[in-house]
Amino acid sequence: MSVPLRQQLAVGSYLIKQKLKGAKKYPLVLMLEPLFRCNLACAGCGKIDYPDDILDKRLSVQECLDAVDECGAPMVSIPGGEPLIHKEMPQIVEGIIARKKFVYLCTNALLLRKRINDYKPSPYLTFSVHLDGLKDRHDASVCQEGVFDIAVEAIKLALSKGFRVTVNCTLFQGETPDEVAEFLDYVTELGVEGVTIAPGFSYERAPRQDVFIKGVDVKNLFRGIFKIGKEKKRKWKLNHSSLYLDFLAGNQNYNCTPWGNPTRNVFGWQKPCYLLADEGNASSFQELIDTTPWDKYGTVKNPKCANCMAHCGYEATAVEDTLANPLKALWASIRGPKTSGAMVTEKNPEYVAGGKTSISDIPVKVES
Ligand code: SF4
Ligand code: SF4
Repeated sequence: MSVPLRQQLAVGSYLIKQKLKGAKKYPLVLMLEPLFRCNLACAGCGKIDYPDDILDKRLSVQECLDAVDECGAPMVSIPGGEPLIHKEMPQIVEGIIARKKFVYLCTNALLLRKRINDYKPSPYLTFSVHLDGLKDRHDASVCQEGVFDIAVEAIKLALSKGFRVTVNCTLFQGETPDEVAEFLDYVTELGVEGVTIAPGFSYERAPRQDVFIKGVDVKNLFRGIFKIGKEKKRKWKLNHSSLYLDFLAGNQNYNCTPWGNPTRNVFGWQKPCYLLADEGNASSFQELIDTTPWDKYGTVKNPKCANCMAHCGYEATAVEDTLANPLKALWASIRGPKTSGAMVTEKNPEYVAGGKTSISDIPVKVES
């Protein structure tokens, strides 16, 4: 576990309070998107396909801080768009830190060198830098040459100034376990605090649909990566719970917990999660919790959710499982994710032919 003790204790005590209160649906990480505008156009991005009037919208400092207060999650992730484009981002970050919330400022790093002096190092602030692989892979993923080198220089600069820095990596088609392992070795050597890693979600709005890895291919890829990690005794610092990693390797059958990472963006509170647009918005966090038809979502319930294994949907599930089954989580943490043997059986989608999942289940009407 790469997260500092102060953060582990704060998040741990928040979770215990929720349990003591008997809260059924509570947030873990607020996904705060104060703008959709970005200075890149990545092949797998589902956030920038909006008309200019939407891309030009910004959440104000007050709207951002109101969202933080309203939601109450102990951690705030600020993705986007590119947050460093927002002129008031330093004030937004300062306000969140003043509330003693842990803020992950996600950035593609193109502007980090220019803007870094607008921020002060703090145990509550982490720059989460987007890197999808080594040079060729990352530059191809973000559809622009030279971005990898800029991001690496920015990481080194931020580390040298005493900032917490993590890397946020999304995996796409064509990756091999060896390639990802080499990437993890590289960022570990750079000295980042940790890496968040997940398969790309198949956004309907992404410019390209052929880049996403799906189903058992994802699980085999992660098994391959973890196997190399075990065999070569790597000390990669993956910023995830042991059970989420076990889930990625096909060893846990989880339903998502979309309210664990509620999303506030320029449209309001997005239903049901960070990944699905076009499902409606709520005007307050409470309205989001009370009016979202949560039962409609999840990989077996909704075709839009098919193949989703994103941490914003499943890390909260893994955390719940950890609280309910601490010995199982401890064992997964000691042995690492299982990399051989049968994977858990996936449930059949309920939306196929009205809940019927094989040809013989589908009634046939014969007319003469
Ligand atoms: S994935 Fe991130 S960096 Fe790439 S276009 Fe989307 S918001 Fe920008
Ligand atoms: S499975 Fe859950 S987290 Fe993933 S897209 Fe569907 S509702 Fe969102």
